[in-house]
Amino acid sequence: MLSGGAPVLQQLLEGEARPSSLGHPCRFCAAPVSTVVCDLGMSPLCESFLTVGQLNQVESFYPLRADVCEQCWLVQLERYVTPEEIFTEYAYFSSYSDSWVRHARDYTEMVIERLGLGGDSLVVELASNDGYLLQHFVARRVPVLGIEPALNVATAAEERGVPTMTRFFGEEMASDLAAEGRQADLVIANNVLAQVPDLNSFVAGIKLLLKPGGVVTVEFPHLLRLMEGNQFDTIYHEHFSYFSFSTARRIFARHGITLFDVEELPTHGGSLRIYGRHATAEEPPVGERVERLLAREAAAGLETPAPYRAFGEQVIETKRKLLAFLIRAKREGASIAGYGAPGKGNTLLNFCGIRTDFLDYTVDRNPYKHGRFTPGTHIPIYPPSRLAETRPDYILILPWNLKDEIMAQLTDALDWEARFVVPIPEVTVYGPAPTSGASPARQGGGGR
Ligand SMILES: [Zn+2]
Repeated sequence: MLSGGAPVLQQLLEGEARPSSLGHPCRFCAAPVSTVVCDLGMSPLCESFLTVGQLNQVESFYPLRADVCEQCWLVQLERYVTPEEIFTEYAYFSSYSDSWVRHARDYTEMVIERLGLGGDSLVVELASNDGYLLQHFVARRVPVLGIEPALNVATAAEERGVPTMTRFFGEEMASDLAAEGRQADLVIANNVLAQVPDLNSFVAGIKLLLKPGGVVTVEFPHLLRLMEGNQFDTIYHEHFSYFSFSTARRIFARHGITLFDVEELPTHGGSLRIYGRHATAEEPPVGERVERLLAREAAAGLETPAPYRAFGEQVIETKRKLLAFLIRAKREGASIAGYGAPGKGNTLLNFCGIRTDFLDYTVDRNPYKHGRFTPGTHIPIYPPSRLAETRPDYILILPWNLKDEIMAQLTDALDWEARFVVPIPEVTVYGPAPTSGASPARQGGGGR
């Protein structure tokens, strides 16, 4: 009866399958992946902020859907976009968040002490951004090399005295560096593993880049926290992979790196910092934190399909609650502005369909974004001073992971009794409070 694309069409008609769930090879183990974790619909690239001139032009939207491999349990996006489309002019400058700058300084102090780094050492950071981290090693006279594929941020790093190579890191580049005798005592890869298109080449490259006694530390958002905290807005096209500790351990082990320690960090809604060394090295021994975290993840069922399936439904319910709150606030005549224009904000805004019908504008500290518009939803972005000028009733905090810092900064919002709204893990309204802007006062529509 049906021919050509018939099997797919037949399945669609019978409601058994969607063309998006026919399977794609796993980024790590190459097994076919077809289990959907969370489908966020069609979305533009979350860092593609638009100029006024681009508002009337066609905009590219891509599917945004996270799947999980039932062989290695890597949560991942299918390959929708080429890395070149994403990373040539990356708008994110690490230095614009106070807490992030402090995090970088604390890490530097800790790791110099723990590994005994000095003037004869070499620290290489992969995806070194604008040099926000390596500058602290430079100040301590520890030699560094940054590797950063985005030209505009690499230039900013050079300007602050951080030598930086503009190239995609992988096995090939690591072999070149090793051949020049430039192996590292410490390799740092913070918040980049998720964005690596060729995961195996990247981790194999780390192995090649490490001196025999070298250590690698890698920070990435923890999948367990993402799921427990309902942080679906941290899923975006730039993040190809989402790691549990057990999956990360499996990936590094395959490339000859043993994870001997792991720390849990509050950054990005809950991250891990893993410590790796050559599997052939005798020390340091594998610490007890490794076993403890593996056991916790196993108890959460992260190596079974059930929690992944439940997550998708929870995400849709979160959207309904946020929209219910916004609709109610607008019906009551309230004005609402955003704070921040982070990548995660754009996932949230697009998935929920929030445009200037709900949000008059948003503000951001990054001057790159001023005068531009959020991708897909076309919300104008202003400097933070705009808030005091227009005195909105509600301020929707898009970078919810920085909510305490932001509410502490916006003390003048108390003058006009603004309320803060945090959308994740579920919509919560704070203030106004006479003594502190940070005391939760759940009220109205989506309070629970
Ligand atoms: Zn896999």
